[in-house]
Amino acid sequence: NRPDNCIFEMDEAYLYSSFNEFNPDIMLVTNLFRDQLDRYGELNTIAGKIGAAIDKTCKVKPLKLVLNADDPMVANIAPEVTGDNIIRIYFGFEDISYSGNDSAGVVEHASLHGENYSPQESINCKCGKPFQYSKTFYGHLGYYECDCGVKRPVPQISATAHVGVSSSKIVIKRQSEEDFEINVNLPGVYNCYNALAAITMALTSGISIDNIKKGIENYNTAFGRAESVKIKGKDVLIQLIKNPIGATEVIKTIKNDDKGRLFILINDNYADGRDVSWLWDTNFELLAEYNKTAIISGIRASDMAVRLKYAGIDAKNIIIEENIERAFLSAIDSVEEDEKLYILPTYTALLELDRIKERLIR
Ligand SMILES: [Zn+2]
Repeated sequence: NRPDNCIFEMDEAYLYSSFNEFNPDIMLVTNLFRDQLDRYGELNTIAGKIGAAIDKTCKVKPLKLVLNADDPMVANIAPEVTGDNIIRIYFGFEDISYSGNDSAGVVEHASLHGENYSPQESINCKCGKPFQYSKTFYGHLGYYECDCGVKRPVPQISATAHVGVSSSKIVIKRQSEEDFEINVNLPGVYNCYNALAAITMALTSGISIDNIKKGIENYNTAFGRAESVKIKGKDVLIQLIKNPIGATEVIKTIKNDDKGRLFILINDNYADGRDVSWLWDTNFELLAEYNKTAIISGIRASDMAVRLKYAGIDAKNIIIEENIERAFLSAIDSVEEDEKLYILPTYTALLELDRIKERLIR
């Protein structure tokens, strides 16, 4: 029973050594955001490691490299690798709009900042100058260019996205082929990027548009990645948080739901990253208007509680319960009929939560 194809999601730190065991036909790089600096190091280090893995593969076989054109570090990864063994395929968004009052992402749009706007966490060009942006979508993703001539490549697969509170619609555009539309049943602009990356990968592999649609539209979330469940009759949405840009995007999806309640769990075990300073780089200020109880748990519950206080949440609404099971039960109980509980755990907190959740559902 040998499979025809295999897909691996690789940890960036193990990519290079895993290519001792196999070399891929197609490789996708989605984005590079600061994540667990104590484990992985700065973005340049990670980009260098991924570049070395690409080089290693291209020395032995041809590689189709699928890259996010909107991320300057990804689009310009492995510049030293050239020649017949590498084909670069870019994907990117032309425009992203938001429905209803879900305009959180638009705040970052360059038009509101005038020209020469740079995102909060900016990336320098390899010449040393900061990139200039004419559009930003989130984090450092957008339309960038530098005086030295480096700029966002024109993607072969481009798209527009209309982002709703819990799902999005994306329209895929290709050179001299018909547009097609896909619904992404997941919240947030970051999931539009994940979907566009997956679609580009599928098109590159020769998968039909019908099958791509079936795959994306029937997708059920893996645990903790925008996982929607009912627990004791209450609506619950679980979204893993682990780095500033990702967590900020998750908060944007919650911010506009006035029927939402918060339950945040912060651990600092090895797999979470021991350094929780990322909480201060996450835009919890978006929740400043939140005026219900927020239950906080996990090993670093106190750090999280302090962060929320500085984000402008009334201290009397911040409840610390370090024991995850007790915190979970009181969070569920606090949710009223028409409300939804938003659970934001770090990785190891999510594992603990999952065990408790399975018991509660049973
Ligand atoms: Zn430059």
